Amino acid sequence: MSRRPGFPVRLDGAPAGPATGRSVAPAPGTSGHERSGGIGLDSQAVRLRMVQRMAAQGITDAQVLCAMGSVERHRFVDTALVNQAYEDTSLPIGLGQTISKPNVVARMIELLLGGARGPTGRLGRVLEIGTGCGYQAAVLSLVAVEVYSMERLRGLHEKARDNLRHFRLPNVHLLFGDGRAGYAKGAPYAGIIAAAGGEAVPPAWIEQLAVGGRIVAPTQMPGGYQALVVMEKTAREMKQTVLEPVHFVPLKSGIA
Ligand code: SAH
Repeated sequence: MSRRPGFPVRLDGAPAGPATGRSVAPAPGTSGHERSGGIGLDSQAVRLRMVQRMAAQGITDAQVLCAMGSVERHRFVDTALVNQAYEDTSLPIGLGQTISKPNVVARMIELLLGGARGPTGRLGRVLEIGTGCGYQAAVLSLVAVEVYSMERLRGLHEKARDNLRHFRLPNVHLLFGDGRAGYAKGAPYAGIIAAAGGEAVPPAWIEQLAVGGRIVAPTQMPGGYQALVVMEKTAREMKQTVLEPVHFVPLKSGIA
């Protein structure tokens, strides 16, 4: 497993600043610097429409909506898919994996934030399983104090590092390894979020979760389908809630 790389911060070209004082909304006039082959001159307007759609579909957490409105999703997908970057669709990111629909990303982060937030209004340390292209890690970096994100495919771990370099996020730590074992060195986590679905929530995640924290994970149900599961750790027990059916790539073992 590699060590925390740490990215220098910048989102939307906003000046780097301390994590708690950073504005998540892009400064006026700074979002026109789009990458070539792109989405047109104003991806901020397209993101705003995406966020309005999300709000209409039931996402209510202002911090989540703000973060979704700030992260340039088009920078995480292949040039040929840039025009679909803000549609509510999952997209291929290589090696047979997909970036989740924006709505699902927002929904899961909203569920994660339903747990205890720290004095800054942000969640404390978060563990993400399945870095993929790094998009969700970037969104998480705006709502959590620290983000540890694990990926088992070296090709995607490296792709995420390349994608995230532009944003310079010092509170995102990318780790190469099998996320089913979690990452004990960063524990306890205020939240654990999985972007791949397993048969059951691995015991290591439950162990590494702080009391008051939440796990949000797509999980196989006895009926043979996958559903979003939220687990909350109290001083005495784990409470589990099964929510809507979802379709995530499988949580696999080992590295490749
Ligand atoms: N959050 C990602 C979504 C990636 S798709 C994004 O924003 O792009 C899910 C990812 O989980 C895939 O890249 C897959 O390789 C990874 N994955 C599956 N099983 C894993 C495991 N055991 N440990 C770490 N990553 C895993």
